[in-house]
Amino acid sequence: MPQRETAFLSVSHIVKHFGAHAALGDVSLDILPGELVCLLGPSGCGKTTLLRIIAGLERQDRGTIVLGGRDISLAPPQARDYGILFQSYALFPNLTVAQNVAYGLSGKRGLRDRIARRVEEMLSLVDMVGFASKYPGQLSGGQQQRVALARALAPSPSLLLLDEPMSALDARVREHLRTELRALQKRLSITTLMVTHDQEEAMVMADRIAVMNGGVIEQFGTPNELYRQPASPFIADFVGEANWLPCERIDEHRARIGAHELRVHSPLMNGTRRLFVRPEAVRVVPGRDAMSNTLLAEVLDGVFLGRSYRVALRMEGLSGVTLNAIVPPETGDALLSPQAARHCRIELPSEALRGYA
Ligand code: ATP
Repeated sequence: MPQRETAFLSVSHIVKHFGAHAALGDVSLDILPGELVCLLGPSGCGKTTLLRIIAGLERQDRGTIVLGGRDISLAPPQARDYGILFQSYALFPNLTVAQNVAYGLSGKRGLRDRIARRVEEMLSLVDMVGFASKYPGQLSGGQQQRVALARALAPSPSLLLLDEPMSALDARVREHLRTELRALQKRLSITTLMVTHDQEEAMVMADRIAVMNGGVIEQFGTPNELYRQPASPFIADFVGEANWLPCERIDEHRARIGAHELRVHSPLMNGTRRLFVRPEAVRVVPGRDAMSNTLLAEVLDGVFLGRSYRVALRMEGLSGVTLNAIVPPETGDALLSPQAARHCRIELPSEALRGYA
């Protein structure tokens, strides 16, 4: 991602209190033109409040919002040039699909044909041609949300705001709509900010993810960066699954766990007390020779997941610490067969380890 590209949406130093409660404490976020950014975080972390402030539905105590070079910090919602999609479909039940989509378009005389053409174009965009004269009550949840998306996009806004747009849908529809929505967003190249608490949804859809915690952005990066280089234990646990091993730091690239010394590629800060490793980075290695960064482990348990096994391991000399490993099916079969020794040697590759306080 080019570093110096100018942001299309620039949110700077936003602070928001509800009474004595600080919902947002100095939040800044730059979104590039055409980018899809997800605000991800646990319930109550402030993501909806931030989205509502950008939409002008809530007023910040401090801070500025610039959209396409225009300062909209104090502009009313209708003067901000965005389309918005909420969790609930929010369609007018007494209007047809076509009337719902046309709702935000100006109805002046002489523009009627243009509006009708735009509605048709929008319905085709969301694959809902043929539903124009139906009422929302006659549509499934996924179909209603596609109509709501068409309505949000009809006035050609320069920014699309999505507030948990798929969380009311069942899992299969959600997965399908997620792919469609991302494809459409890329095709239109519309700058998009989406709130979600579903980390898989964020990983699949976003160019970049801003992970929020307690009213601040704890890390802003690509899904790959968040997953591989989490900035804090909170990010490591929230984005994917983490194993934690208590350790003692020896120097910048070495740590001791139990009686073992491990090399760690990324620098270990003073005060490092635990090592992080993703389950799929744990490797079961053949043989019993003590190669570098390998340890003996006892196989406690295993679950077959189809393309892999999740195996629970206890590391020798480290009572009370279990480690989850995701291993290939052949390895899982061998480890868990009734004839298996129930012990194995595992490697914790130095590139996959990171230290945290
Ligand atoms: P969720 O995923 O549950 O919607 P969220 O991350 O979107 O959570 P927000 O809705 O932004 O969180 O809320 C942030 C904090 O501000 C919460 O503690 C919430 O209770 C509080 N809050 C939000 N809106 C109001 C309000 N209108 N009045 C008082 N407190 C509010």
